[in-house]
Order: sequence, then C-alpha cells, then structure tokens
Amino acid sequence: MALPPQVLNEQPTSGPLVDRFARAHTYVRVSVTDRCNYRCVYCLPATGVEWMARANLLTFEEIVRVVRCLASMGVTGVRLTGGEPTVRRGLPDLVRELAAIPGILDIAMTTNAHHLAKHAEALASAGLNRINVSLDTLDAERFVSLTRGGNVERVLAGIQAALEQGLTPVKINCVVVKGENEQDVLPLIEYFSQWPDAVQVRFIEKMPFGEDTYTTVPSATLRQRVQQTLQLERVSRIAGRGPSVNWRVASTGQTIGFISPMTEHFCEQCNRLRLQADGNLRTCLSRDDSPNLRDVLRAGMTDDALAALLREMVWGKVAGHEAHTGKQNFEGVMTQIGG
Ligand code: SAM
Repeated sequence: MALPPQVLNEQPTSGPLVDRFARAHTYVRVSVTDRCNYRCVYCLPATGVEWMARANLLTFEEIVRVVRCLASMGVTGVRLTGGEPTVRRGLPDLVRELAAIPGILDIAMTTNAHHLAKHAEALASAGLNRINVSLDTLDAERFVSLTRGGNVERVLAGIQAALEQGLTPVKINCVVVKGENEQDVLPLIEYFSQWPDAVQVRFIEKMPFGEDTYTTVPSATLRQRVQQTLQLERVSRIAGRGPSVNWRVASTGQTIGFISPMTEHFCEQCNRLRLQADGNLRTCLSRDDSPNLRDVLRAGMTDDALAALLREMVWGKVAGHEAHTGKQNFEGVMTQIGG
C-alpha cells in the first residue's frame, strides 16, 4: 500500500487539525502510565524496562488541558491506554473530566482487564463508553506464558463486568504470534459467540519493536484458516472507524476483525495522535515528536500557544512509517507508546 502524497502546501491556522496529507485528526490515544502488571512477550523486553519517574508523568490536569485543546480543533475521540491504564490511581476522575470536555463524544479504554471487575462500574458511571481487552489465548497455561504471569480467569471476569456495565461493544484484541497462539484463533471466536452483538474479536498482526524476534502471522493467512471452518461475510468498512477489516460469521452473526499493520498498513487513513504518559506526543506511531508537552505546559504555555504548537506538530507529521516493510523494527517500547 502506498503512503499518501502531499496535497496541502500551507498550514491552516483554524478548522480541522490537518497535516500536509490532508488527514484530519479526530482521535487521540492517551497513555496514562507506562507501568503494566503484565509483561506480554511481544510488548515488553524480558529484562523489563525502567518505569518513568512519577514526577515525569502528565498530571490529570495536564492531560485534560491537552485533550481540551485538541477537542477545540476537532478531536472527538479519546482512548485511554498505557502501560495498563487501570493501575493509575483515580482513573475514574480522569474519565469524568474528559467526558465533560465539549466536543469529546467517545471515551474508550484499552486494558488487559486484570483489574476490570473491580473498576468497571466506577469507570462506566464516570463516562467511559467502551473497552478493548487484550486477550491472546483462553488457555490458562499459555496465557501465563504469553503475559509472563497473567491470570485468564480474572480477565474473563473483567470482560463479564464490562458487559454488565454496558461498556460495549467490547473488542477483544488478540495479537497472533507464530508458534505461540495460532491455535487459539478459533477457540476465541467460538467462546465469544455467546455475545454476538456485544463482543467483537479482532486479530492483530504483531509489529516488531526493539529487540523483538517473534514472528507475526499475516491476516490473510489467518482469515483463510478461519474460513476453512466458518463461513465469513465481508462487512463494509466505515471511514474513520479504525483500521479493522471486519467480517460477519454467518453461523453466529458475530463480527470478527483483522488488523494488519504489517501487510496492509493504514497510514493513508491515519487520524490518530498518541500522547505518552511523559508528555511526548507521537503524531506517527514510529517516532517521538518534540517538544515534550509536559515541559511546555510546566513552563507556562498559554492555551492559544498550545493550540498553535499542536497544529504545527500535526503539520509536521510524516506520511507514514516504514517499519511495515520489515526492514527495521519500530523504535520505542509499546508499553510506553500505548499501542
Ligand atoms: N495494558 C493494556 C492492554 O494490555 O491492552 C494497554 C496497553 S497495550 C501496549 C495496547 C495494545 O498494544 C494491546 O492490545 C497489545 O496487544 C498491543 N501490542 C503490544 N505490543 C504489540 C506489538 N508488538 N504488535 C502489535 N500490537 C502490540
């Protein structure tokens, strides 16, 4: 897939938050912490990482300021992520403040769900709309091994709690790793067929980060394998609704999806920004942009100057990343970037 061509030559000073490729940015992923209670093998190096110092994390007040500023320029959706967002204390307070920002229409969260049974009610009452849960296998032993110590029963209880709180659709994100959990694709689809309207299972191609040596399985291969057992009907794609290519399982009516950052990258439609827990903004997954927003906020930057800076940073966004070509691994650690 080609990267988008440059079509705009002058940076607008008002209206939607566009880059030179005329991509309007309507969605921000906010990593609220880099800390995680799991150590997924394709996400964190075996040796672990040094967590960011707490004083370097954006405060809730700072996150809300950045999101309010983005919302004034057309951002409507926020996804809380991490690290593991539920390990950040007081998360429902942040959700409540984000939900009160004019223009923010959708607040979602990506979580491993280990703590979700405890927090689902408070998060839903604070204004969280829906969740994505990372779950790579239903097999208890493989789950322990892939997450380096996780507990699949707790995750399933968290999903149950989310369903009871109406945090739907619940999207299950399964990163498929060659030789590790390929056999789990069908069991995941089958297990979640009990909630055909409320749960969607999506299979994600693993992206290579840092020293990672695991191999991904192309979405097309996975889909063909699923089609040997289940009849799938293509669901038409809705622009701006994320990179998943969805299919309906004829026998159950459930929707399943394939997300293919490696074999069919979606840079052309990229509408997202990533705010890391330390205040670094990534306009593209592949690179850190400067300056650090925490530093400029703490230096006293006004809202108008912040808006101008964000416009300028988005204008400087690259056409796309090259890591999907397999020539090099992505730089950074996923738990810091936020997925
Ligand atoms: N702790 C939360 C969780 O487990 O969902 C949120 C953070 S996690 C970094 C966000 C998403 O990134 C998860 O769905 C995870 O599976 C995905 N992810 C992590 N490393 C990845 C990789 N190398 N390739 C593709 N997806 C990855």
